[in-house]
Amino acid sequence: MNTSTNTIFPQGDLASAEYFTGKAWVKLLVPKDDIFNSVIGNVVFEAGARNNWHTHPGGQILIVTDGVGYYQEKGKPIQLLKKGDVVTIPPDLVHWHGASPDSDFTHIAISTNTKKGVVDWLQPVTDEEYNTYNK
Ligand code: MN
Repeated sequence: MNTSTNTIFPQGDLASAEYFTGKAWVKLLVPKDDIFNSVIGNVVFEAGARNNWHTHPGGQILIVTDGVGYYQEKGKPIQLLKKGDVVTIPPDLVHWHGASPDSDFTHIAISTNTKKGVVDWLQPVTDEEYNTYNK
């Protein structure tokens, strides 16, 4: 589906439906190891797709490279993300990220301090939660 004309990386593998609503693809760029203590992946979401609520024990950095997406921290409003935006997510903060309803969305996800763990998945983001963005 990736209709973008400025794709940088291969689309990668379809993300697990256990942890994502809608379709997303993950291309692993730097695997977990003991040297860099990071995992880096490129993630492409189709419009409307998002990951479950989750935390990163060592934190995460998102670098948006294409499309329009959403990011939400538990208890706060949804934030709109656009190409060029950078999001720093502290360890153990409950959040989710994904595409907006009308646009594909691509980000590079850098999970840091992975000796502490990469991700702990929680419940799916409901349509009711997803549709709270105020334009
Ligand atoms: Mn995350």
